[in-house]
Amino acid sequence: MNDVLIIGTVALDTIETPFGKVEKTLGGSATYASFAASFFSKPALISIIGHDFPKEYLELLRRRGINLEGLKIEDKTFHWEGFYEYDMNEAKTRKTELNSLENFKVEVPEKYKDIKYVFLANIDPEQQLELLRQINKPDFIVLDTMNFWINNKKSSLLNVIKKVDILLLNDGEARQLFNTANLVKAANSALSLGPKAVIIKKGEHGALLFTKNKHFNAPGYPLENIIDPTGCGDAFGGAFIGYLAKTKNLDELNFRKAIVYGSVVASNNAEDFGLNRLKNLTMNDIEKRYKEFQDIREF
Ligand code: AMP
Repeated sequence: MNDVLIIGTVALDTIETPFGKVEKTLGGSATYASFAASFFSKPALISIIGHDFPKEYLELLRRRGINLEGLKIEDKTFHWEGFYEYDMNEAKTRKTELNSLENFKVEVPEKYKDIKYVFLANIDPEQQLELLRQINKPDFIVLDTMNFWINNKKSSLLNVIKKVDILLLNDGEARQLFNTANLVKAANSALSLGPKAVIIKKGEHGALLFTKNKHFNAPGYPLENIIDPTGCGDAFGGAFIGYLAKTKNLDELNFRKAIVYGSVVASNNAEDFGLNRLKNLTMNDIEKRYKEFQDIREF
């Protein structure tokens, strides 16, 4: 039985960092998110690819136990091209080719409709809203977004924010969306729209959790080798909701643990291009770095 429903993109990415370049490699928000969630739970995916999508990539997702019944195949796969300079916290987009994503009609398979944990990963907010319309009331909804949708679909995005339990976004996006330089003000504006909590991801510098009365600050992991941060935000979100679905505990303290698991998986993801690191990551590696995070925080 699947316990996390994830909508987002399954993409072919062309990525350039100061350490190399990969062309049309497996990527996409739903790919990273479901891969990361699969360490803790059984994700089911809603997305679209094209006829050009390599079979070996589908096999890789299937072997992780990710349910692909909600994956449509039409036209050509979404293609994102981006690069990073030495400040690896900021991806710069060269090209976004929506392709089959542009006319993607969300259709949730019947057996996905009762899944209790839902992750609206990065995709058109209208498609996120359509998914919410089709499912039965879940226990918990997490939303992620990015500058592309803030620029192009802001009012739909604000409508989705009103319907979710947790909003995830990075610091630059929080400033942009809420029109303020101050992250505390941005978080308060987000909370006033309805979510119980807001998580602001700060790349290699960690993540901030804001709820009405409490604040938590997770450290960044001191990574020596950052090769490619693509997908770190999605991997963070996937591991976060995967851990919550596994533990079925929505207390603020458990959010903190889920944030650290998210940071563990995301920091590993940055150590190689595409999904190369996550492909070989084990639960032992995850628990080992989780303990290191606890040590970093003790004083
Ligand atoms: P992240 O580094 O976690 O922000 O996400 C990177 C992933 O997001 C890449 O694998 C891209 O394929 C995907 N992506 C890029 N642009 C978009 C977009 N506009 N909507 C959804 N996914 C995107």
